[in-house]
Amino acid sequence: MKNRIAVYPGSFDPVTYGHLDIIDRAAKIFDHVIVSVFVHSAKKHMFTMEERVAMLRTALKDKKNVSVDCFEGLLVDFVKKKKTSVVIRGLRAISDLEYEFQIAAVNRTLYPDVETVFFMPRQRYTYLSSSVVRDIAHFKGDVSKLVPPHVARAIAGRKK
Ligand code: ADP
Repeated sequence: MKNRIAVYPGSFDPVTYGHLDIIDRAAKIFDHVIVSVFVHSAKKHMFTMEERVAMLRTALKDKKNVSVDCFEGLLVDFVKKKKTSVVIRGLRAISDLEYEFQIAAVNRTLYPDVETVFFMPRQRYTYLSSSVVRDIAHFKGDVSKLVPPHVARAIAGRKK
């Protein structure tokens, strides 16, 4: 296999155990994984881009072949800038497929060399999303089983 770099893009608002599960799987297969926080103007944010990057870096500090970056713009432009063509996405359920299929097809139209590779998380994370975490946090619920401890502390800190 060639020296392979893969980009894992997302909002990561905030990073959850579901994202970390996907990153673990990808890091076993690819030589280097670049986790990249993307800004979606349409989405309401809980954490700033800098906070999301910092939380990811803390969560991934022991992973030697994973780095964290951020980007404002088209995914295909970021992928080209990183001199790769591989995009990683997670599939929780069939309901993710339609959206992911569309994004992958659009990216391929913009950059024909791009390959989107999908990973399935372990079953216990298939219901987990950042928006579930944000909803629970909004009502001051316990998120400790869904996100790493430093993320749970950051969420608790926001409520004060
Ligand atoms: P969310 O949908 O939670 O806001 P992101 O935009 O950060 O997440 O998603 C980045 C990628 O990670 C997407 O491909 C999404 O499907 C995937 N993902 C998010 N949560 C999980 C999870 N619990 N298990 C597997 N993949 C996930």
